[in-house]
Amino acid sequence: MTVDDVLVVGAGPTGLAIAAALSETGLRVAGLSAAPPTKPWQNTYGVWLDELPAPELRATLGYRWSDVVVRAGRRTIPLQREYGLFDNRQLQHYLLECCERHGVVWQNGIAAEVEHRVSHSLVTTRDRRTFAARLVVDASGHSPALLRRPAASQVARQAAYGIVGEFSAPPVQAGQMVLMDYRADHLTPEEQREPPTFLYAMDLGDGQFFVEETSLAHVPGVPLSTLERRLRRRLDAGGAAVRQVMHIERCLFPMNNPLPYLDQPVMGFGGAASMVHPPSGYMVGKALRYAPEVAQAIAQALGASGSTPLSAARAGWQTLWSPARVRRRQLYLFGLASLMRCDSATIQAFFEAFFHLPRHEWTGYLSDTLSTAELARTMLRLFVRVPGKVRRTLMAAAGAEHALLRRAAFGQA
Ligand SMILES: Cc1cc2nc3c(=O)[nH]c(=O)nc-3n(C[C@H](O)[C@H](O)[C@H](O)COP(=O)(O)OP(=O)(O)OC[C@H]3O[C@@H](n4cnc5c(N)ncnc54)[C@H](O)[C@@H]3O)c2cc1C
Repeated sequence: MTVDDVLVVGAGPTGLAIAAALSETGLRVAGLSAAPPTKPWQNTYGVWLDELPAPELRATLGYRWSDVVVRAGRRTIPLQREYGLFDNRQLQHYLLECCERHGVVWQNGIAAEVEHRVSHSLVTTRDRRTFAARLVVDASGHSPALLRRPAASQVARQAAYGIVGEFSAPPVQAGQMVLMDYRADHLTPEEQREPPTFLYAMDLGDGQFFVEETSLAHVPGVPLSTLERRLRRRLDAGGAAVRQVMHIERCLFPMNNPLPYLDQPVMGFGGAASMVHPPSGYMVGKALRYAPEVAQAIAQALGASGSTPLSAARAGWQTLWSPARVRRRQLYLFGLASLMRCDSATIQAFFEAFFHLPRHEWTGYLSDTLSTAELARTMLRLFVRVPGKVRRTLMAAAGAEHALLRRAAFGQA
C-alpha cells in the first residue's frame, strides 16, 4: 500500500488551500473528498482585499468594492477598506492548479474511520477502501469526519437568507457594498425585541444586487423563514420590491464550536478546526493566510527523524492554534457572547462606536492581526467609548461569561 506524506480529507475552500500549501512544501499529498474537488461551491465567499496573502489571488475575485459602508443608528460610516467576493470557480481553479502542479491526486470517498500505527495513519472510507498517510488533515467542514472535539451544549449559529436578483429600485446605492445595516425602523416594536439582524448587500452591476438578511450569531440559529420575512419587509420599506430572483442563498453555520483536542494524532483545518472568526463568521481569507505557515510546520515535523502522526499533528496544531491565538479566541468569544445579549438599539450603538475606533484597531479586530495585548486594549477602549446602555450590557456579559474571560487570562482552550 502506498503511504503518502499527507492525506487531506475534504475539498472545500480550506481543504484545497491546505492541500495546495502542503504540496508546495514538497510533501507528497493525496486528497480524499466526498464530492469531486471540481464540484462548484455554492456559498458566496466575501473577503477584505488586504487579507489576501498573495497579489495573484486578486484575480480570483469576481467583484470588488471600494465604496464600503456600515449603517448604524442614523449614521452611514464609510469604511475606506476594499472588499471583494470570490469568483468561486476562479478560486477553486487557482488552488486545484497549484495542487496539480505539485502532484496532488484526489480520490472520491467518504472518510469514515481513522486508525493510527507508529509511523502512519489509515483512513477507511464508508465503502471500505483504505488510504495511508504519515499525517491525516481533516478539512471536512464544520462537522468533521475524523477529528474529535469536546461536546458543546450551546453552539451559536450564523444564519442568513439572501437573494441575488433584480429589484424595482436599487436596494443599495450604485457601486456600493453595505457590510452591515442594522437599522430596524421598519420592524414593529415587538419585532425589535427579537434577536437583531442586519442587511448585507451589494451592487453586482448590470442591474443586479445581492441582498442578505443576516443574524450574526444566535443560540439556536435564527430560522431562515424569519430572515426571509425580515428581508422582504426591509426591501418593501425601502421601496425595492423583488422583480426577479437569480439565486437564493441559505446560510447556517456554527460560530463558536469548541476547539478540537489539540493533542490528537489527526490535524484539522477550516471549519473542522473551528477556524471561523467569532466576530464575523469569516474563514476563507484566514484559511488562505494560515495555510502556508501550518504547511511549513507540518513539513518540518515530517522531516524530523522518527516522526509520527502525533508529532506531525502536534506541530500543525501548535502553529494553527498557538497559545496566543487560543487566548485571543477566548477574548473574541467573549465579544461575541456580549453581542448576543444586545437588542437592536444597543447593537447599533455598539457598532457605531466600533467602526469609529482607530482604523488599525477595528481592521485588526476583524482580521485577527492584533497581538493579544493590543486586542485587550482595543476591547477596553471600546468599553470606555460606548454609550452607557451598551456598557451596562457588556458588564452584564462579563458577569455571565466570567469563565470565558478567565480562560482568556490564563490561556486555556
Ligand atoms: C452560505 C454560507 C456563506 C458563507 N460566507 C462566507 C464568507 O462570505 N466569507 C467567509 O470567509 N466564510 C463564509 N462562510 C463560512 C465558511 O467559510 C464556510 O462554511 C466554508 O465553506 C467552510 O469551508 P470548509 O472547507 O472548512 O468546509 P466545506 O466548505 O463544508 O467543505 C467540506 C469538504 O469536505 C468534504 N467532506 C465532508 N465530509 C467528508 C467525509 N466524511 N469524507 C470526505 N470528504 C468529506 C465535502 O465534500 C467538502 O468538499 C459561509 C458559510 C455559508 C454556509
